[in-house]
Amino acid sequence: MGLVVQKYGGTSVGDAERIRAVADHVARTVRGGDEVVVVVSAMGKTTDGLLRLAEDVSSVRPGREMDMLVTSGERISMALLCMALAERGVPAASFTGSQAGIITDTIHQKARIIEVKGDRIREAMKEGKVPVVAGFQGVSLSRDITSLGRGGSDTTAVALAFFNDTATTEIYTDVSGVFTADPRIVPSARKLARLSFEEMLEIAATGGRVLALRSVEFARNYKVTLHVRSSFTWEPGTVVTEEDEMMEQPLVSAVTSDTSAAKITLTGVADRPGIAAALFKALADRAINVDVIVQNVSHDGTTDISFTIPKDDLAASMEVADALQPELGARSVVADVGVAQVAIIGAGMKTHPGVTARMFETLAAEGINIEMISTSPIRLSCMVRAEVAEQALQVLHRAFELDRPPATAT
Ligand code: ADP
Ligand code: ASP
Ligand code: MG
Repeated sequence: MGLVVQKYGGTSVGDAERIRAVADHVARTVRGGDEVVVVVSAMGKTTDGLLRLAEDVSSVRPGREMDMLVTSGERISMALLCMALAERGVPAASFTGSQAGIITDTIHQKARIIEVKGDRIREAMKEGKVPVVAGFQGVSLSRDITSLGRGGSDTTAVALAFFNDTATTEIYTDVSGVFTADPRIVPSARKLARLSFEEMLEIAATGGRVLALRSVEFARNYKVTLHVRSSFTWEPGTVVTEEDEMMEQPLVSAVTSDTSAAKITLTGVADRPGIAAALFKALADRAINVDVIVQNVSHDGTTDISFTIPKDDLAASMEVADALQPELGARSVVADVGVAQVAIIGAGMKTHPGVTARMFETLAAEGINIEMISTSPIRLSCMVRAEVAEQALQVLHRAFELDRPPATAT
């Protein structure tokens, strides 16, 4: 008998029938002798709907009120699931993030979890009840309701697992695991049985939204093994865990694409110390995550700086860049929302320089122009035009033979 945290995503609790199916599975787990803590997302596309509604109502949307709004979606699912569990004779109690004692910082819409007090969850379990916790939310140090950023229910699950010393964390979703590419874009993508935290981090950071990036960071830092699996077939999925030193590592494990970023270019910036520091410090002060940065070779003492940021942060980033334009001496500040990132990821890449050439050749053969390049020891990514992102993903998947069982580094 163990303690297991089970997280169910939006599609998994998308309608009444799905909620009943989830309740059946929770009941089965409890009857099998395990203790369960459940985390739920909002039903289906509820969160998208709430965000649209806010846009329709007002151009001014204070973060505090946005969080009050978006966190309501998860409350609906938690209450309904508890009712379905009650019908099955499984005592359960729902808790908002705040009631569960999930304490965060004060950055609305992308708050970070600082601590999980969890007293009420422990009390509920002592009374033999299954705690059902609303994902994606907490309460800030200044006692306001906060949300954890899109996909944040994954982070709630990992945090609850860590603070409860749980070994097993199951992330139930609408695909049967983590695949070599998004199976909706590349139908021949293969399910991976096992993946290291590092590889999963790179996948999540470059558009593979099957797990939220923060949740993987948390899982890696605190060694919480994750099992990503289907709430439709319940078959074994993908285990994300520490890299196994003994295991041979595939050269390339997965390819990803991402159209959620925008590019900003400052042209004709003075090429002197302190310029980049001033710009990126100002962006950091607004809690904006900058991803790829490229600075061109200087001509006549000036240079161009391009960087990518989430599209959601474009307006705030342009405000920052426009405000700094005189100080930086930039000729122009230009936004580009038509970019996409395609990336190849694999722990075995570290030792195989040929991978880079193969990626560039594959894109060149398709006539796809590369606008920016960024690398990590286990990832290579290229910014391309958004309209060719899916084509790029498909050709890269084929070029690295990911539809076949993995080639291993030798
Ligand atoms: P949930 O609502 O359960 O959190 P998400 O929509 O956030 O589900 O994540 C699951 C989706 O992630 C899948 O439907 C799939 O289209 C997408 N996805 C992107 N990349 C991958 C990948 N490499 N493997 C599996 N799924 C992926
Ligand atoms: N409902 C939230 C979202 O759609 C959180 C989640 O599903 O993980 O982003
Ligand atoms: Mg998700």
